[in-house]
Amino acid sequence: MHKRLLIGIAIIVLLAVPLVLPNSYTIRIANMALIFGLLAVSLNIILGYAGQIALGHAGLFGIGAYTAALITTGGSGYLFWPAFIAAGFVTGIAGLIICVPTLRLKGHYFALATLGFGEIMRHIFFNWQEVTHGMDGIGNLPKPSVGFFEFSNDVRFYYLSGVILAVVVLLTHRIARSKYGRMFTAIRDAEMAAGTSGVEVPRLKITAFYISAVLAGFAGALYAHQIAFISPDSFTFEVTAQVLSMALIGGLGTAVGPVIGAVTVTVLPELLRVSKAYYQLIYGAGIAAMVIFLPGGVWGLFKTRWATWQGAREPGGEPLAEATASPFDAHSLAGTVGRTSKPQAGAVLLEVNNVTCSFGGLVALDNLTVAIRQGTIHGLIGPNGAGKSTFINVVTGIYKPTAGNLRFDGAEIGGLRSWKIAKLGLVRTFQNLRLFNTLTVMDNVLVGCRAEHKSGWIGVMLDSKTARKEEVELRQIAEEALRFAGLWHLRNQLVRTLPHGQQRLVELARAFAMRPKLIMLDEPAAGINPAEVEQLIKRIMHLRDLGITVLLIEHNMPLVMRIADHITVLNFGRKIGEGTPAGIRDDPEVIQAYLGHGKTKKEKTLAAA
Ligand code: ADP
Ligand code: MG
Repeated sequence: MHKRLLIGIAIIVLLAVPLVLPNSYTIRIANMALIFGLLAVSLNIILGYAGQIALGHAGLFGIGAYTAALITTGGSGYLFWPAFIAAGFVTGIAGLIICVPTLRLKGHYFALATLGFGEIMRHIFFNWQEVTHGMDGIGNLPKPSVGFFEFSNDVRFYYLSGVILAVVVLLTHRIARSKYGRMFTAIRDAEMAAGTSGVEVPRLKITAFYISAVLAGFAGALYAHQIAFISPDSFTFEVTAQVLSMALIGGLGTAVGPVIGAVTVTVLPELLRVSKAYYQLIYGAGIAAMVIFLPGGVWGLFKTRWATWQGAREPGGEPLAEATASPFDAHSLAGTVGRTSKPQAGAVLLEVNNVTCSFGGLVALDNLTVAIRQGTIHGLIGPNGAGKSTFINVVTGIYKPTAGNLRFDGAEIGGLRSWKIAKLGLVRTFQNLRLFNTLTVMDNVLVGCRAEHKSGWIGVMLDSKTARKEEVELRQIAEEALRFAGLWHLRNQLVRTLPHGQQRLVELARAFAMRPKLIMLDEPAAGINPAEVEQLIKRIMHLRDLGITVLLIEHNMPLVMRIADHITVLNFGRKIGEGTPAGIRDDPEVIQAYLGHGKTKKEKTLAAA
C-alpha cells in the first residue's frame, strides 16, 4: 500500500539525516528535534486527542530528566536504561497526583492547575538544593550503553532517540486508532454524549494524562543524557509554550503531526538565524500565520491532500445497490433480539417515583411519578419547557434529582453517573445533536459498542490478540447498528458532513449499538423531512419488535398518536394526563392544559390525529 511506501521513505530520510548534516552542531539540533518531538507526541495525547488543555509539560519533562539524572550521575552508561524506565514511572506517578484531583475541573481550571504545577516544579528544581543542586544543576551524566556499544557521540545518540521516537509514534498510533483513541476524541468532541454512550469520562481522561506523563518522563531522560547536564533553566514555561506550538503546527490529534511540528519549530529558527536581526519577528509571525491558516497543522493539510488524491484515483467507491438498500433487509439483526431481555408483558422497566428536579427557583420536574413498561413505546408529550428533556437528563444521570428515586430494571439508579446508567442498558439520543463531530459515522457508533473481550491500553499498544478480537467484535456490533439505521453505506463519512436527518440517525445508531433495554429518543423527528419521518417510525416500531422499550418525546402529534402504546403528558414539570393515545386525545383537561385557550394550530393537529 501507499502508506507502507510513505513509511519506508520516512525511515530512509530519518536514517540519512546524520549523513548529510554538515557538523555536530546541526546534528545536535536534529537530536533536539527528536527529543522535543517525543515531548510533543506526549502533549498531543492529552491535548490533541482528549482535548484537555494541559500546560504543565515542562514540569513533567523536568521530573523525568531529574529522576534519570539522579540515577546515572557519575555512574556508568548501563544505568541509563533503569534510569529511563524510572523516569517514565516516576513521571507517570507525578502525573496521576496532579490529574486525579484536577481533571474533575472543567477546561480552563484544568489548564490553570497544570500551569501552576509546571511553575511549582520549576521552583522545586531550583530550591531543593540537597537533591537538585539548584542552579548548579546536575552534570557528569554518562552516555547510554548497550553491551559494548556506547551511544557516545551525537550521531549515535541521534539513532537512539530516533528509534525510541519511532516506537512511541507507532504505539500512540495504535492507541489512536483503537477504542481508546475514539473514546478520547469522543470526550473532546462531546463530553456529555461520551458519558451517556458508556465512556467512563474521568477514568479515560486519567488514562490519557498518565500515558502523556510517562512519555514526557521518557523525553526528559533522553534530554538529560543528550545534554549530559540539566538545570532548572531547561524546564521553564518556555518549554511548554514551545511544545504547544509544535503540536499546533504539526497538527493536533494525529500521530505524526507533533513530530513534524517539532522538526519545524526546532529547525526553522536555525535556518532563519541567517537574517539575525529579524529572525524572531519572522519566526513569530510564521507560527501565528500557520495556526491561523492551517488549523489542522501541516500534517492535517497533507492528510486532506492525500485523501483527495486517493479519492480521485479510486472512483466509484460504494456500489449504488448498497446505498439504496432497504434498511431492514439487513442480516444479523436477529442476533440483537436474544441479547436484550425478553419483554415480560407489562413488567415495569423504569420507575420514576416522586422525582423533583429544580434549577435554583425553577422547578423543572415537580414530584413526578412515571412507570415505563417493558416492550412498549411510551410517549412523553407536553409544551415547550414542560420538562421533557429534563426528564431524560435526570434519568440518564446528566442531572441529579433534587428529590425522589429512580429504579431501572430492579436497580436504584438515582445519582449514578451517566456511563454507569448507560451500561445498565438505559440509553438516549439528544434533542440538540451531540455527535462526535471529528469522527466518522462508523467511529461515532463504535464509541457506543461494548465487546465481550476487553483489552486494556497496554494490550492495545502491544496489538495483543484480545485487543484485535475486541476490535473485530466491536465492528460487528457497529455494523449491526449501522444497518439498523440505514447508515452502512455512509460509514466512512465524517459525521459533520452529513445532512441533519442522517445525523439524527447516527444518534439513533449510536444508542442502538449499546444493545439497550430502554432507549429514550428526545424529539428524533425534529427537523427531518416527511419521508425520513416515515422511515423513523418504522425503525421505532422495529425497536419494539426487537424487545427494546422506547420512550419517545415528540412534538409531531400524529407520529406519537400513531405509534405510542401509552402516553404521559407533562406541563410545568407536573404530570397532567396519562393513558392510551385515544384516551389522551379525548381528555379535555389535557387538551385544555396542554394547548391553552382558543383553537391553536397544535390543537387542530391533536384533534385531527
Ligand atoms: P422541554 O424539553 O419539555 O421543552 P426542558 O426539560 O428542556 O423542557 O426544560 C424545562 C425547564 O427547565 C425549562 O424552563 C428550562 O428552561 C429549564 N431548564 C432545563 N435545563 C436547565 C438547566 N440546566 N439550568 C436551568 N434551567 C434549566
Ligand atoms: Mg426538550
